[in-house]
Amino acid sequence: KVRVRFAPSPTGPLHIGGLRTALFNYLFAKKNNGDFLLRIEDTDQNRYVEGAEQYIIDSLNWCNIPFDEGPGKEGNCGPYRQSERKHLYKAYALELIDSGKAYYAFDTAEALDANRKDHEAKGKTFIYNWHNRLKLSNSLSLSADEVQQKLDAGEDYVIRFKSPQDETLVLQDIIRGEIKIDTNILDDKVLFKSDGMPTYHLANIVDDHLMEITHVIRGEEWLPSLALHQLLYNAFDWKAPQFAHLPLIMKPVGKGKLSKRDGEKGGFPVFPLSWNTSVGYKESGFFPEAVVNFLALLGWNPGTEQEIFSLEELIQTFSLERVNKSGARFDPEKNNWYNQQWLQKKTDAELALIFAEDLKERNVAVDISFVETVVSLIKERASFVSEFWDLSDYFFQSPSEYNEKTAKKQWKEDTPEIMAEVATILESVSDYSSANIEAIVKEWISEKELSFGKVMPPLRLIIVGDMKGPHLFDILELIGKEESIKRIKTAIS
Ligand code: GLU
Repeated sequence: KVRVRFAPSPTGPLHIGGLRTALFNYLFAKKNNGDFLLRIEDTDQNRYVEGAEQYIIDSLNWCNIPFDEGPGKEGNCGPYRQSERKHLYKAYALELIDSGKAYYAFDTAEALDANRKDHEAKGKTFIYNWHNRLKLSNSLSLSADEVQQKLDAGEDYVIRFKSPQDETLVLQDIIRGEIKIDTNILDDKVLFKSDGMPTYHLANIVDDHLMEITHVIRGEEWLPSLALHQLLYNAFDWKAPQFAHLPLIMKPVGKGKLSKRDGEKGGFPVFPLSWNTSVGYKESGFFPEAVVNFLALLGWNPGTEQEIFSLEELIQTFSLERVNKSGARFDPEKNNWYNQQWLQKKTDAELALIFAEDLKERNVAVDISFVETVVSLIKERASFVSEFWDLSDYFFQSPSEYNEKTAKKQWKEDTPEIMAEVATILESVSDYSSANIEAIVKEWISEKELSFGKVMPPLRLIIVGDMKGPHLFDILELIGKEESIKRIKTAIS
């Protein structure tokens, strides 16, 4: 059975890049009737941030991509927080020491620093590996007695992985294909520290093994760790999962990875939900469907022209083979477009409920069916519900001012007189429906041998305050006879 995991470290709010990793894991799991796990990698207590775990969970829930197993949703492989699995890792580190695949190292931070400087002075880079390890303080260079003495004396140590010498590793990545690595460039990474904590590498592969993970789908920034991870699986004699490293998400303009700063400078969110002062996608009025949709297309393509995908459709269509190798450019404008598309798919009733909140804050009291009708008339032009007010304020109140430029152009000497007549005609209409008002006004225009240009633009200016808005007769119907006449009288008085 396919089992994948999203394994964030709770070091702050989940960035949009992390959310994409979660989404791709989710899609792959659901496509293959598999399980999607959330594992919290919180072994680094120094970087732990209060609230980050809950934020991650809230973000996944908001996107409708819930996990099947994770904190608070126990399966057979819990606990799902590494800090609660602490007791587990040491035995694995010791197993590697016993089999000669890892070793104790006692070098102090000062000694390592001195070595680093020494190498730098000679124009070289210090790597703790086959080349140097015998000159350093560890169980490969010391006698068994010396090692035991240090351990007995309670000296600080780390357990390092003994990277092989002179081998070429052939790694497989579902997205990138075959990757060859010369093991001589690898350093002997720390797996475990005497404070009782494993490092990311050890905890990560032990847990992937114990949680029966079949596919590791993660960001490209973890590609450099792949060689070590494969070596660890070999060292334990475990079957390694398959790996897929997702392409980087690039800045909207210029070079480099998308960062939080790009959002701040560009005025677009990079977090799903707000975090302290940063406003998230949710608070900016994005629909989760739109966020899921644009994230899916950041690095994946369906191989067709289709751009709008529901979560269901994504699950049907998704495959790791169609994930690109090269970086995916983040496009805030396009994200807005996705929201515009998803907004059109919402029912008027759904949108009216959201808009009603905004109206309430503006102290506009109207009934919800009126709001629904307004929404049906204006939503086409909006990407966000937050734009509704500016697109529709004239439905709720008479214009507070008239667009000056338009007024200059459309308001002629005889306009007040013509408008007064329009008011009289409206007064006489008994069936005040859009179609009926339109028929009556048009008939009057042709009888009087007036031009449309003399009537319609100034009337729109009076009713709306500007040349914008949907069909004018629809507006008249909706605001009602009394209000229509009132606006005309105000304008010409
Ligand atoms: N804890 C790592 C992170 O924060 C997990 C990387 C992985 O998926 O292996 O991204």
